Amino acid sequence: PLPVLAVVGRPNVGKSTLVNRIIGRREAVVEDRPGVTRDRVTYEAHWNGRRFKIVDTGGWEQDVLGIDASVAAQAEFAIEAADAVVFVVDATVGATDTDEAVVKLLRRAGKPVVLCANKVDGPSGEADAATLWSLGLGEPYAVSSLHGRGTGDLLDAILEAL
Ligand code: GDP
Ligand code: MG
Repeated sequence: PLPVLAVVGRPNVGKSTLVNRIIGRREAVVEDRPGVTRDRVTYEAHWNGRRFKIVDTGGWEQDVLGIDASVAAQAEFAIEAADAVVFVVDATVGATDTDEAVVKLLRRAGKPVVLCANKVDGPSGEADAATLWSLGLGEPYAVSSLHGRGTGDLLDAILEAL
């Protein structure tokens, strides 16, 4: 079976945009409105001749009820089923309390994590990305999922984690 990569993070940080960038197609649903990816959706991807599965998930918000809680549960299931996780943070916003809570959840799960500092569309965003060292997950990979900037280095790190 192919190794499985789960893509997790808060709503609207760019998870589905990153998934589309990695699979090279526009299949994951990108929305300005947060929380549109309700369920786990799996795609096949490859990089440097290695194939893997990539799972797009809905995001979390802390202390939410109803449908959003079930979205959070889907993301937790996705982590359980994954060999490695890409944790996507919006570098233009910085680490929020929700992001910190997700870090705790990731630590409990004990899976290898690659930290994606997304929405770094140009060199001026690199400093924003560097602040995410504070999450304690190692190097924040500065990426623009929208334009493709930095995704090669991120994918190299993903292959090492898988
Ligand atoms: P998700 O909820 O985490 O799956 O986020 P989406 O992929 O649906 O993206 C949410 C919004 O962020 C959309 O308007 C995207 O176009 C935008 N977005 C995603 N990645 C980037 C990026 O690298 N740079 C910028 N500027 N916007 C992005
Ligand atoms: Mg999405």
